[in-house]
Amino acid sequence: MYQETLVILKPDALERNLIGTLIKYYEDAGLLILDMRYYRGVDEGLLRKHYPDTMALSVGLKAQRAVPTIRDPEAHGVKVLRNLRKYFSRGPVLAIKIGGEEAISEVRRVTGYTDPATAEKGTIRGDLGIDSIEKSTEEGRAVENLVHASGTIEEAEAELKLWLP
Ligand code: ADP
Repeated sequence: MYQETLVILKPDALERNLIGTLIKYYEDAGLLILDMRYYRGVDEGLLRKHYPDTMALSVGLKAQRAVPTIRDPEAHGVKVLRNLRKYFSRGPVLAIKIGGEEAISEVRRVTGYTDPATAEKGTIRGDLGIDSIEKSTEEGRAVENLVHASGTIEEAEAELKLWLP
């Protein structure tokens, strides 16, 4: 099924001059670049809508998978979300609308798993990610993994409205 989805190139991607390289991963997978918007900075209100506190448990459980000594995943997730908004607001970022056959899962496949340390080779995070959840947890910050990609049809629809109205 044809779908449209949102990718955001995060601050580390722009700091590392990777815009062209990352877009090429999606184009090489046969996906289409349909629209984009450069954000010089991102305000807290937008970030709270994009990463709401209700995500705390899932993010905390992901952390626990990488660092099993985490006791309370939900409380940990709240801290990660705070750090994540800080990471994102370091800005600038580039929001990109991408379309294609099964674009949502295709984009996620090309992007790779959240933790660059365990992301598969051939994916953006696996090939170009230089951080890990273990290291970022030790240092009390969000893991830097270059790209955000919508996870579901509902997320894609809501996030496209939010970032590329
Ligand atoms: P994804 O971006 O792979 O969909 P999530 O939606 O779970 O992952 O998390 C959003 C972002 O928060 C991740 O891309 C990453 O930058 C950061 N993050 C997620 N979980 C952790 C964690 N346990 N520790 C540090 N940062 C995290």
